Amino acid sequence: MLDWKVTMLGTGSPRPDLDRSGPSQVLHLGDAPVLIDCGEGTTAQLQRAGIPPQSITTLFMTHLHSDHLLGYGQFLLGGWGLGRRQLRIVGPKGMKHYHETILSLFKEDIDYRISLGRSPKGVRENVEIIEIEEPGEIEQFSEDIPARIYTEKMIHNVPTYGFRFEGEEQVIVHSGDTAPTENIIKLAKGADILIQDACLAVNETYKNITDPELQKIWDNLQKEHCSPAQAADIAEKAGVKKLVMTHFLPNIDEKRAYDEAVAVFDGETIVAQDLQTIGLSVSVTK
Ligand SMILES: [Zn+2]
Ligand SMILES: [Zn+2]
Repeated sequence: MLDWKVTMLGTGSPRPDLDRSGPSQVLHLGDAPVLIDCGEGTTAQLQRAGIPPQSITTLFMTHLHSDHLLGYGQFLLGGWGLGRRQLRIVGPKGMKHYHETILSLFKEDIDYRISLGRSPKGVRENVEIIEIEEPGEIEQFSEDIPARIYTEKMIHNVPTYGFRFEGEEQVIVHSGDTAPTENIIKLAKGADILIQDACLAVNETYKNITDPELQKIWDNLQKEHCSPAQAADIAEKAGVKKLVMTHFLPNIDEKRAYDEAVAVFDGETIVAQDLQTIGLSVSVTK
């Protein structure tokens, strides 16, 4: 069985946080590293994790919210500088426009670096962007990724996709950002690892809300994300082995998040930390 694992590069949210970098994770599917999302700090976190940024040539974008995308400029141009000469991206409609806008904003910069002698491959050439039209199987990767890859639409306020990576004997699923939906239960069916949005873990700001503006934001966030109990309910219904909760606001009450989840889910439960590596084997059984 191929040794699959996950490195949590960024377990944060749109709120700047020194302890939690912007959303971004690496799936190691045997020898093939696959990046999911590209939040602020992704390239530095790859380096901290000992993963050369240029070794990542496949990126899956769950959606195009800023917190998942702000690291893309540095990932693209910095990774090119380090020697990346090909890149393939799967994401929602709009990813091509975002990529081309960055090329256009940095036209003179890229021209200069090419004039020094660097190949345009990996930035202007050899970059393939596949925009998801319909959920289902993504078949373009059969040659170099040892997995079948499936997507489903999530519930979030922009088009958002969860991804299922299915090997011969192992499955890793990433929810992206989502409110509870049957689609994530379906996508995560029997997964070894479910990386799941649990953004509604209570933190210092939202523990005792007195400001009406904050109350309004918190109420509206309920339509876009999951709480730890909802994340756990998804994991329980899907029969996953290991729940990895992520996408946390600054200063969450980690013990409370864990306790809320394990009250609902019987499998192994992890409140993810930046730079944590998580394998397939289940180390805790209740
Ligand atoms: Zn989002
Ligand atoms: Zn987000």
